[in-house]
Amino acid sequence: MNTTMRFTTSWDDGHPFDMRVADLLDKHGLTGTFYVPARVAPGGCCNPDGFQVLDPQQLRELAARFEVGSHTLDHKSLDSLPTDEARRQIEAGKAWLEDQLGRRVDGFCYPNGHHDAGVRALVRDCGFTYGRTTEDLHDGVGDDPFQMPVSLQFHTRRRRIDVARLFVRQERRRLGEGRWKRRLPVFAAALSADDFEACFRRLVDRACAKGSVFHVWGHSWEIDRLGAWKLLDNVLRYAAERVPRAARVTNEALMAGRALDSRAQPAPR
Ligand SMILES: [Zn+2]
Repeated sequence: MNTTMRFTTSWDDGHPFDMRVADLLDKHGLTGTFYVPARVAPGGCCNPDGFQVLDPQQLRELAARFEVGSHTLDHKSLDSLPTDEARRQIEAGKAWLEDQLGRRVDGFCYPNGHHDAGVRALVRDCGFTYGRTTEDLHDGVGDDPFQMPVSLQFHTRRRRIDVARLFVRQERRRLGEGRWKRRLPVFAAALSADDFEACFRRLVDRACAKGSVFHVWGHSWEIDRLGAWKLLDNVLRYAAERVPRAARVTNEALMAGRALDSRAQPAPR
């Protein structure tokens, strides 16, 4: 195996079901990062009524075992807010989480995956060291720590047509920076599988063989809604059987080693 292979997982929104994800990660000796807002405001992407997040004791328990990063104050799309309000959402979300945990928080994740150059600059100015996006089908960390990509969203709906739709939809939103070229190899690999579990296995095997990054991300509230806890258990077991312990990292650790990975990933022409 190439020693630069890295495996990480991300779980967004701070729903109390995160504790169940954490228990499964522990069971399989895996790690990752949980991104927690102070609350999910009504009208958010996932629940019209919004929801409260993990209570203080659960948050501290989670942070003792995993990286916990910020997901703003109210989980609103930052690129649609006035600059002052976007800054308040980022700053207050960080201060709230640091107060809950009693420690500095360096990791950030954009609510709904929405960001632009102004939002990324605000996140940097507010003291974060990286910003995680929802840009799927990557096998590296990219060249901008505030556009940290991912590999695959945990979902039961990942047939070939869904992967193709995902690729096209994300490209429409982000064309112009040449980032799509980096996604083609993972996109092609993902197309060789016709359901989520096969796709996950294919991309884990590929990352192990190539010494690249595999980064699965998802939402615990969605896993429950989809009735997919057994599926999560199965794919995490598959990863644990193949990924060496030294390759299991949090997002913060992955980004701290990004210089190494960036050298392995040529810039697009
Ligand atoms: Zn979210």
